Amino acid sequence: MSDCIFCKIVAGQIPCTRVYEDDAVLAFMDIGPIVKGHTLVIPKAHHDPLTAVPSDLLARVIEVVRRVAAAQVAGLKADGVNVHQSNGAVAGQVVPHVHFHVIPRFADDGHRWNWKAGRYDDPAEPAALAERIRAALPR
Ligand code: 5GP
Ligand code: ZN
Repeated sequence: MSDCIFCKIVAGQIPCTRVYEDDAVLAFMDIGPIVKGHTLVIPKAHHDPLTAVPSDLLARVIEVVRRVAAAQVAGLKADGVNVHQSNGAVAGQVVPHVHFHVIPRFADDGHRWNWKAGRYDDPAEPAALAERIRAALPR
């Protein structure tokens, strides 16, 4: 994808600070870290959204997510790790090349997710929604 910023990073047309790469996967430092050490993990091939990534490639990407998370704990002495992934502008996605945010968390990092838990007033509602999701699950 010629106009994709992450494809340009893969191609070396835009510089990045690389953490890991192999033939299919690249991990690099996010230019605007939520917490210092924030790393992005992407497939080198352009795919978007998450549901369009071939399963075998996605497995390789997730394995690098796992290893980067482990390295943030072991190497940065992170107390915890958030893994975050967005699909679609409405979900807050800015760069439409699938990517996982791997964010080291520290007791004193000052970051708070703006996570407001809602509630179901009608107990039938989650069951109905679950049935719609279940019926649409891809094989
Ligand atoms: P999104 O909101 O799409 O899930 O996240 C996109 C991420 O890409 C953001 O965290 C942003 O800081 C990062 N980003 C955008 N442009 C660049 C860039 O040119 N280089 C690097 N290293 N990260 C970028
Ligand atoms: Zn791309």
